[in-house]
Amino acid sequence: MRVPLWASAATLLIALQPATVAARDTSATRIPDEALAVAPQLREAALASRLGYEITESLTTEVGPRMAGSEADARAVKWAQAKFHELGFDKVWLEPVTFPKWIRRSESGHVLGENAQPLTLTALGGSPGGTVEGEVVRFADLAALEAAPAGSLAGKIAFVDYRMERARDGSGYGPGSRVRSRGPSEAIEAGASGFLMRSAGTDSHRNPHTGITRFDDGLTPIPSAALSVPDAEQLTRLLALRPQQVRMQIDAGWDGEATSHNVIGEITGSSKPGEVVLIGAHLDSWDLGTGAVDDAAGVGITMAAAKLIADLPQRPARTIRVVAFANEEQGLYGGKAYAAAHADALTAHQIAAESDFGAGRVYGYSSSAPAHAAEADRQIAQALAPLGIEHMPGKGGPGPDISPFAAQGLAWARLAQDGTDYFDLHHTPDDTLDKIDPDAVAQNVAAYAVFAYLAASAQGGFGSGPKAAGE
Ligand code: ZN
Ligand code: ZN
Repeated sequence: MRVPLWASAATLLIALQPATVAARDTSATRIPDEALAVAPQLREAALASRLGYEITESLTTEVGPRMAGSEADARAVKWAQAKFHELGFDKVWLEPVTFPKWIRRSESGHVLGENAQPLTLTALGGSPGGTVEGEVVRFADLAALEAAPAGSLAGKIAFVDYRMERARDGSGYGPGSRVRSRGPSEAIEAGASGFLMRSAGTDSHRNPHTGITRFDDGLTPIPSAALSVPDAEQLTRLLALRPQQVRMQIDAGWDGEATSHNVIGEITGSSKPGEVVLIGAHLDSWDLGTGAVDDAAGVGITMAAAKLIADLPQRPARTIRVVAFANEEQGLYGGKAYAAAHADALTAHQIAAESDFGAGRVYGYSSSAPAHAAEADRQIAQALAPLGIEHMPGKGGPGPDISPFAAQGLAWARLAQDGTDYFDLHHTPDDTLDKIDPDAVAQNVAAYAVFAYLAASAQGGFGSGPKAAGE
């Protein structure tokens, strides 16, 4: 075959390039060929394993719902500790996490008068108890409530009827959850004595979605609850007929402090045990379902991934650390405690990834890798590609529990899960094991195992280190 002159010139340039690059940037991170050669066997072993699903089944069945600070939360900590030991992790320990404890006792809602009927609702986490009766004032979205003049809702119940959008990447949850976090305080500013919202969810079942809310300092909290989607639609139809009086009765509230634990298990690295690749999920859940997709699946995925790495004939150079974080749901308490407890070891943490978006398949990979780690990042993406995972540089951000540490400079990776159906189940009584596909969990385990193994085998870092001021 005739080779045109320009091609041989290009070939010559390419041949010269590696030496030039090496001379210019000796700190470029690379993954050794031997580690890349192990990735396919690790991937196949994970795809053939049911371990991730079995761990998820164990947590959701033996412990069930495990709201932060509850008796079940303490059992979940014991469960995680025992599971790490059972799986043969080299080191297992607990780190305390203290937070205010919120309790839900009972909740109900009724339309009064001519169209009297029950409403299915659930208190938002952080809501005070109380019985409120008043005329309902509907707002199409949060902005409409924000525009309500001070005092205009005196003696009334504010109702925000915002419809959350379904999306693979969960992008509808930002505006949906903002109604929950900001709505109650906005309602109080306008004088309301109660707050109702259409659930931040995408299902059409009579299951309300709970989740934490927070009241601005200086405001007196009011009973705050989410209606199931069909109940919100029913209330909207009733309001189209005539003004409606609603009674909401909530028995819930804060009850002192509780201490739970981040539960940590480690597979010790063979030659650089002080350098850590962190993967994890949160151990706590809301109380309505059994916390299967949120976030027992994440616990199962990351524990199983590390266990499969431990089963390889040769350990990676670096340590794989799995963290089951305490109390993510009520304010990232476990993630904040971890970042505070390990601040001195920030740079030793090479990179971290959290699984907290259900049990759907991973479709995208991205990370915070800086230019000097771009080649290693590409190598990881290439090893993930056979799992149907696309490299999406520059997309996404760190998982919730690693975000406090990432804010200090921890490098992160994101294995983006398909969340199209996640908000049908999220924070509802329907978040149970039967919704989980074991094959999808296995694909997640494969993705986490390959990512963690390659990151733990890399020569060079992924950019973790204290951030300069203003960075
Ligand atoms: Zn979660
Ligand atoms: Zn959650």
